[in-house]
This record gives sequence, C-alpha cells and structure tokens, in this order.
Amino acid sequence: MSARPPLVAIVGRPNVGKSALFNRVTRSRRALVERLAGTTRDRQYGWCRWRGRRFRVVDTGGLEGPDDDPGAPFAAPVREQVLHALAEADALLFVVDAAAGLTASDEAVARLLRRSGRGGVLLVASKSDRREAGANVHELHRLGLGEPLLISAYHGQGVGELLDALAERLPEDAPDAGDGEDASDGEAPRPIRLAVVGRPNVGKSSLVNAILGEERLIVSELPGATRDAIDTPFEFEGRPMVLVDTAGIRRRGRIGRGVERHSVQQAERAIARADVTCLLIDPSEPTAAQDTHVASLAVERGTGLVLAVGKWDLAAPGTERPAFARRIDGRYRFAPWAPVHFTSALTGEGVADLLRLAADIDATRGRRVQTPELNRVLQSAIAAHSPRYVGKRRLKLLYATQAEVRPPTFVFFVNDPELLHFAYRRYLENRIRAAFGFDGAAIRLLFRARGGGLEARAGAAASEARERTEATA
Ligand code: GDP
Repeated sequence: MSARPPLVAIVGRPNVGKSALFNRVTRSRRALVERLAGTTRDRQYGWCRWRGRRFRVVDTGGLEGPDDDPGAPFAAPVREQVLHALAEADALLFVVDAAAGLTASDEAVARLLRRSGRGGVLLVASKSDRREAGANVHELHRLGLGEPLLISAYHGQGVGELLDALAERLPEDAPDAGDGEDASDGEAPRPIRLAVVGRPNVGKSSLVNAILGEERLIVSELPGATRDAIDTPFEFEGRPMVLVDTAGIRRRGRIGRGVERHSVQQAERAIARADVTCLLIDPSEPTAAQDTHVASLAVERGTGLVLAVGKWDLAAPGTERPAFARRIDGRYRFAPWAPVHFTSALTGEGVADLLRLAADIDATRGRRVQTPELNRVLQSAIAAHSPRYVGKRRLKLLYATQAEVRPPTFVFFVNDPELLHFAYRRYLENRIRAAFGFDGAAIRLLFRARGGGLEARAGAAASEARERTEATA
C-alpha cells in the first residue's frame, strides 16, 4: 500500500535561519540561504530521511512579506504562514533567532501556537553557536513551548537531535487513498475541513464565532492583512479541524448589488477546499433558490453536506422540528441523504453537535465497501429491477468496485455507458445507500465500458467508422 508521508513545516520570522535549517535537513544544495530580510522566495518542499523515516519538509519563506515592524504586536505575513502550517502540517518547527533574542512577533507566534492546542510543535533556537546566543537562551522558556532545541544550521550542530525529537512526534505514515491526494482513511490526524456557507446575513460569521469562541478567533481584519482564503485551524474534542475561508465569511460591508452573486462564488471556492459543507439556512426563508444551488455545488464536488438551520432561537414557539425538516427536505430531493440540523449561534444550541456530525460524515467519506459485498448488492439490485431496453439494446452491468474514498467513488463496468438512464443511476445510488449507509456524504458513481477506457473507445470508434463505411457503400 502506498503511504502519505508526514509533512513538517518550518515557520518563524524572516531571516531567523529557516532556509539554512531546510537545507540541512533536506540536504538540498539548490535552495538558497537568503541573507536579506524580506526577500520573497517560493515555498520550498524537500524530503528528509532520518533513521528509516521519510517525511516532507516545507519552508514557508515564500509567504513572507517585509520583515515585521518591531513595534507591531503581530506581523500579518508570519501569522498567515503559521496558520497555513497549522492547517496542513503534521509537525511544526518554530525557529527563533537565539543570537538576536526574542521579538514581540516571536511571542505572538508562540501565543498562536499555544492557543491552537496542537501537539507536534518544536521550538528551535537557531544560530546558537554565536556568542550573543548564550545570554538569550534562558528567556526562550518564556514562550511556553517547552525546552528549546539549540542548533547551528551553519555548523550542523544539534540537527541530529532535532530530527530525533521530530521523528518521535510524527505520526506513522498515513495510508493514502491511492491517488496521491491529501486523503487518508487511517487514524492519522488529518484535519477535517469544514466550509460554512450560506446567504448574506444568515449568521455564518456568528456561527463561526460560536465554533471558535472569540478567544480563538485569530483572523485579523486589518486592511491588507486578509487574503481571499484564510483558513482557521482549531481542535474539537481532540480532533484537528479547519474552518475554511474564515476571512471571506467575516468580510463585512458588502451590501448592494452583486452581493448574492459574490456570496455564491465565495461558497463555491470554500466548497472546493472542504471535506464537509455546512449550508446555513435562514428559518424565515427556508426554500431560497440560492441555497439549493449552493447545495448542488457541494454535491457535484462530492463533499459531505449538512443542511443547518440557523437562528433556531428565533423560530416561532411551537414550531416542530420534524415538520420543518420535512419542508426543507422537499427542496433538497437531490440530496435526501443530507441531514437537517438545528443550530443557534446565539444560545450555542446544536453547535457542538454540528461539529460531531461533521466528524461522523468525514469518517463516512473515508469508508470502503468490499468488492464482493458491493457486487452482491449490485446483483440483487439488477434482479429486483433490471435496466430498460433502449431500442434493441439495454445496459448490462458486469461488475462494480469502490475505487476511491473522500468522496466514496464507485466504478461500474458496463457494456455501454450510453445506455444508462439517469433514473437507473439514481436507483443504483439508492440501493448502495440502503445497503451501506453513507449518510451525509455525496458519493460518485462512474460508468465505464468493459475493457477499459481507451481500448474500448478505440474499439467503438473503429466499429462506428465501419458502420459508416457500410452505410455509404
Ligand atoms: P453572515 O452575513 O452570514 O456572516 O451573518 P452574521 O453572522 O453577520 O449574522 C447576521 C445577523 O444575524 C447579525 O445581526 C447576528 O447577530 C444575527 N444572528 C446570527 N446568528 C444568530 C442566531 O443564532 N440567533 C439570533 N437570534 N441572531 C443571530
């Protein structure tokens, strides 16, 4: 089985020695050690092998802007770099310059790392061979990130110890879905990516705040400090999660024409990067066309989907949830498997359960159905209801297998995919769901001609050409 190797991110202020450390651990000669603060470099990825382990290393230098203003409490480029690393990396090396001593920005990064509650953070004191370093080392404990690892990337001192400490903290290689994408169905701490989408004013940013708690809301709203896609990592009941595009959700003041369209585009971008989509629905307008459109985008993308009714505290007393849920279901017949869930950002009702639901759905998306079981279900589906004739021919289903997880993707080998009617596709999906569940998760059904893609297509093209010649003869 192929495996997804763990990812280690190197973060820290500009010019503290991140590149030098990157070069050391990846033995890369091409990567440059920048001397000038603020030079823009690309993110560099490299490989490291250490005592039989193999992991990827990323130097986030490319996300750096100009060096931080010593007066500023928190430097935006460094923060973004750290947020990215928290979202995607299995372990973080936070590098501080022992020779220069701590800055306000270092302390702010440390605060961010402590608050994230993430394990796998190592404090690295670089340039510790320099004379000035001695006096500074004791104050590094103040960062609250444990014992600093003293290194000199230039001389290679301390790097072996650092790699030992790192290897201890890295998860075992995560099993891969087989497509090289960042997906796994094992126990690796892969963060669950949740997108909260919905029309303006439905309560997205209130819900996001309720999820994170004001304390943890670390996205800045300074002009220029936000980009289109800022994700916020957090932990819920010991599970790493990421709220996708929190900056987009919180960007306010876009009133007037174009707002609705803008919010659809924003939702589309967020969905593209999410595992689970939470569509927030306004209870006073539960059947808005824009909502069903956005839900269909999530289904097309193959994410999980929760139909979350917001502001439930405002519902008229006596409103029955099941009746209300049925009303919503009626509009979402294309996704009858998506649960309706009631929340209130104001009272906090249903917020924790929403996260539990998202985690369940994410696990569902990672499930694999064994091929023999799948084919038993397929055979009984055909026996109960066989495909209709189209002229003199009809669809023959030969064999099926689950090819992927996240989203669960089922491939059916058939005589001719053209003979598939959409109603029969829906029937097969229903049978699969009835047999195996997959509640809350979009699944994909692909139909391929027996004999495999190219060959079959070449064969079909040849016979088509033959028929045409015969017709003209
Ligand atoms: P967004 O545009 O979707 O991010 O919506 P906001 O989160 O800014 O919320 C719009 C308005 O609805 C604000 O005035 C919120 O205070 C209010 N609101 C949001 N969630 C709730 C809720 O659960 N209950 C109540 N009563 N009001 C809410």
